[in-house]
Amino acid sequence: MEALIGLFSFILGTVVGSFLNVVSLRHNTGRGLSGRSFCFTCGKTLSWYELIPVFSFLFQKGRCRACESAISWQYPTVEVITGILFFALSQKFLDFFMLGAIVGVGNFYGAMILSAMVIYAVLFGLLIAIGVYDLKHKIIPNKLVYIFILVAFIRVVGVSFINIFVLGDTLISVLPNLLSGPIVALPLFLIWFLSNGRAMGFGDVKLALGLGWMMSLWGALAALMISFWVGGIVGIILLFLFSKKITMKTEVPFAPFLISGTIIAFFFNINIFSFLEFFG
Ligand SMILES: [Zn+2]
Repeated sequence: MEALIGLFSFILGTVVGSFLNVVSLRHNTGRGLSGRSFCFTCGKTLSWYELIPVFSFLFQKGRCRACESAISWQYPTVEVITGILFFALSQKFLDFFMLGAIVGVGNFYGAMILSAMVIYAVLFGLLIAIGVYDLKHKIIPNKLVYIFILVAFIRVVGVSFINIFVLGDTLISVLPNLLSGPIVALPLFLIWFLSNGRAMGFGDVKLALGLGWMMSLWGALAALMISFWVGGIVGIILLFLFSKKITMKTEVPFAPFLISGTIIAFFFNINIFSFLEFFG
C-alpha cells in the first residue's frame, strides 16, 4: 500500500511537473494556459503521446519527431524533480494519509488532512514554477509569488486556528508561526534595502515572506540559513569554473537557493535548534 501511494504520488508529480513547464514557459508571453503545446522550432502541434511526462522525451531521444530539433532538458528535469517532491511529500505525510484514508474525507479530520496535503502540493508546485522562471529570466514573476504568499498565509492561519480551537493552544504559542513570514523576509529586505536592490531582488523578499508562512518559524529560519550556505558553495564553484566570465556584478538568481534550502529543511525536518544541537 505504501509503495503504491509513493508510486502514484511520483507519477502525479511528473504530470504536475509537465504542467509547471507550461506555466513557466508561457508566463508573460501573452499565451494563456489553454491551447495545445507545439514544437518551438517547426510549430507542429504535439499529440498526446508526445506529451507523456519523461517517457516521451526518452523515447524520442530528446528530439522533436517532426523536425528532429533538440528538446530542452528543462522538460524532463522539472517533471522528475516534481515527481520526487510529490513522492517525498507522500512519504512525509504517510501516517496522516493512512489516517485520512481510515477516517474518510467526509470527516472533519480527514478533510483537514486532505486539505493540508493539497496545500503543500500547491505550494511546492508554485515554488518549482518560480524557481524555473527565475533561473531562466532572473526575475520572480509577481503573479506566481503573490499566489504563493496567499496560499502559505492561508496555511498558517488554518494551522493556528486548529492549534487554538481544536488542540487548545494559546494565541501566544502560535504567534511565532504567524509572524514567521515577516521575520524570515526581514534579513532579505535589509539586504535589498541597504544594497539598493543590487545584492538582492525585491522578488526574493516576497518569496521569503511566503516561505516563512509555509513552515514553522524555526524551520523557516533553518531554511534561510541553508539557502545562504548552498548559495555560497555554488557561488564559489561557479567562480572557479567560470572565473573569467564572472564579475561581482554577475546576477545570480537567489530564488533557486531559497527554494533548495526550504526543500532541505522541510523534508529532513531541520530547524534552527538542530543546528544548535549540532554545534553545541
Ligand atoms: Zn519540431
